[in-house]
Amino acid sequence: MEPSPSSTVPWPSSSLASSMGTLTCPRRRSMPSTSPWMTCPGCVEIHLSAQYVATLTGNMVRELTGILYHEMAHIWQWHGKEGSWPPQGLIEGIADFMRLKAKLGVSGNGFVGLGNHWDEGYAVTALFLNYVNDLHPSFVAELNKKLYDGWSESYFQDLTGKSVDQLWNDYKQKFHKQDVV
Ligand SMILES: [Zn+2]
Repeated sequence: MEPSPSSTVPWPSSSLASSMGTLTCPRRRSMPSTSPWMTCPGCVEIHLSAQYVATLTGNMVRELTGILYHEMAHIWQWHGKEGSWPPQGLIEGIADFMRLKAKLGVSGNGFVGLGNHWDEGYAVTALFLNYVNDLHPSFVAELNKKLYDGWSESYFQDLTGKSVDQLWNDYKQKFHKQDVV
């Protein structure tokens, strides 16, 4: 069961860290899967859509655990602040990076080198972040810390010495289609 649209505060205008609003996972716009909802201060609910679960194939326990890792990451990660929101795809990418690091794969059928732009979100961004994190351990954790204060693309330069566009080009050159391991 999900809250009625009238009770939903559009993401990212709500912040789990600072308001009583609800958080709507952007994935719901295109893929009715799960959403973490904050119904009161300190209370969080993750709603899992039976309709979406019915579309899953393969190892159900692994996939459902992966979804929960993704949604739990949304609860704990920073989302920028009013007037300085990060790309929505970065938020989704960080959440998918968390499930990837838990050896639960990424959302959908992602593979290393996938995508046309670093902030496409989900698997594309998660696998790119994983590449950067391998080069610069703790990169994603440090990036998340910076998101507390808002968003700037220069965070990539600050943390790695390279711009995000340069890192993305390096990544695309290094990897062609490879399976996620
Ligand atoms: Zn999400």
